[in-house]
Amino acid sequence: MKFIEQNALQYLSVKLPLLGAFLMLAVLVIQWALDFNFVPQQYAPFIVGTVLPALSWLGRKIAQPSLHQSLGFVAVTAGHSNTDPGAVRGSDKEADFVVKVRNAVELYLLRAGLDVKTDGKGGINLPLPDAIKIAKGASTKIEFHLNASDNPKANGIETIALPEDKKLAQAISKAIAGVTGGTLRGKDGWIDQSQSARGKVGFVSNGGLIVELGFLSNAAEFAVLQAKYWLVAQAIADVIIQHEKGA
Ligand SMILES: [Zn+2]
Repeated sequence: MKFIEQNALQYLSVKLPLLGAFLMLAVLVIQWALDFNFVPQQYAPFIVGTVLPALSWLGRKIAQPSLHQSLGFVAVTAGHSNTDPGAVRGSDKEADFVVKVRNAVELYLLRAGLDVKTDGKGGINLPLPDAIKIAKGASTKIEFHLNASDNPKANGIETIALPEDKKLAQAISKAIAGVTGGTLRGKDGWIDQSQSARGKVGFVSNGGLIVELGFLSNAAEFAVLQAKYWLVAQAIADVIIQHEKGA
């Protein structure tokens, strides 16, 4: 036998029948002690057979949100696509790098037991309209990008999101900075979509977060990202896992 629930007592469907059984036992003991037939003994099997399952059923019905893991799934997508490389610097392409980050984040989320959807497996990087479709209905939607600038010194991390996702956006940017040592752009790593130079991004309008991991145009920053992208992915995944599990 394999136990799937290590801590079954936390569920009302287990607690309520136990409480019911305990109360019935208490009644029978008190009756016996007082020699008083409040519940005739012949009714006991009837009570055991109906009341306890009913209590268990009631326990299943009563919502216990704190016990539940993520009800939905996490959508993790890579910016741009196999035909649109995004920012390019020498032989390095934004779209290729963010696919690696996407795959690594997916791995850590799956390991944590979360449901994950991506915009392709392996090297596949489907275009934005597909990413938006795939992300539809996700409890957390996240897409990875690299920034680029004509100024080779421009650097830093930012996560573009709607105001309701400000905290999550900041936590993700900070997690990346914790690994790369990069600076936080915007408001502690969060950029309000309405203040973004890009204008409205479809992915964000649909409730997603766009994570700009750093600048491809900054040789030093991109070198650190390449060297540490597994750790970056793990740090990002940890934030999403906490968020999904309601911590
Ligand atoms: Zn991009």
